[in-house]
Amino acid sequence: MYIRGLMNTSEISEIKELLSTPKNIVIVPHKNPDGDAIGSTTALHQYLKNKGHNSIIIAPNDYPSFLKWIPGEDGVIKFDGDQERAKEYIAQADLIFTLDFNHFSRAGMMERSLNEAKGIYVMIDHHQAPDDYAKYTYSDTTMSSTCQMIYHFIEKLGDVDAITPEIATSIYVGIMTDTGSFRFRSTTSVTHRIIADLIDKGADNTRIHQQIYDTNSYSRLQLQGVALKNLKVLPGYKTAYITLSQEELDEHKFRKGDTEGFVNFGLSLDGIIFAAIFIENKGEGIIKISLRSKGDFSVNEFSRAHFEGGGHTNAAGGKSELGLEKTVEKFISILPSYKNELEI
Ligand code: 5GP
Ligand code: MN
Repeated sequence: MYIRGLMNTSEISEIKELLSTPKNIVIVPHKNPDGDAIGSTTALHQYLKNKGHNSIIIAPNDYPSFLKWIPGEDGVIKFDGDQERAKEYIAQADLIFTLDFNHFSRAGMMERSLNEAKGIYVMIDHHQAPDDYAKYTYSDTTMSSTCQMIYHFIEKLGDVDAITPEIATSIYVGIMTDTGSFRFRSTTSVTHRIIADLIDKGADNTRIHQQIYDTNSYSRLQLQGVALKNLKVLPGYKTAYITLSQEELDEHKFRKGDTEGFVNFGLSLDGIIFAAIFIENKGEGIIKISLRSKGDFSVNEFSRAHFEGGGHTNAAGGKSELGLEKTVEKFISILPSYKNELEI
């Protein structure tokens, strides 16, 4: 199995040494955690707990119900609802793992507590431009998912035999969701070998797929219909975008996670290489933006430059405070400056 990334042998030895006696450990995913964030944190949590550590996951906020069956998920503390308890754990932590993000600002209202923490930081992440807060940084943008990196991390610790069916299930979830079910460019033969091993170790692939993708509500399917109706195509720029207003969301009993994957509808059109979705959030006073691309057009750079966001080359997010209509106007007005990349 190939081992990649920045963590070298002496760092691994140091981490092994640290983990040789029971520690207080806090594990943190990013705000609005997705399948990879919850999969990686629950996998590592269960691994460390089984090794005798006092481990706890603290998420900045809640996550969609389709992630609420993953093994190890039931004890997750949500920082925004349980700040006192969360702050106590963070203050007492010997080790803090931050997974699937690389900048404290991605932890939302936890940012300050993370800045003040005294514990040793370990970052495991596959996004671009990692910050330097961690003593141990395992950062690799070629990786399909943070979950794949958790597998490699356990492998580097020489401990793959400690992967239980529950840990295998958690890791499987994040690899599956971050690769669009094993079809994005980041999916390699190594990814597939790991998946094969996870199935051997007890991950029930069919059941996992069903639990994540076949638990639609009627109102979510109807909302999907609205998104498809709102889909606009700009053939000159090989671009498609979707808008969803707060009113449309409310009409369809929007719940966290309901719009997951909608941005990909645009990208499924023949000839389209850039897709966006703009989702109004009146509560936060922002438009949440998701961007996807095919090939070399970097939505990470696009989002960093124009929408206060970031992510990966082919999948990124951002936000705007301009209101829905003005945000879309801004988006369209920017496209001509990417003419060369989008026209080819
Ligand atoms: P999504 O569109 O599914 O919310 O996110 C796609 C990718 O972009 C994910 O890897 C996510 O971590 C990243 N991302 C989403 N929103 C933001 C944001 O506001 N800032 C940054 N830096 N990354 C984001
Ligand atoms: Mn991820």
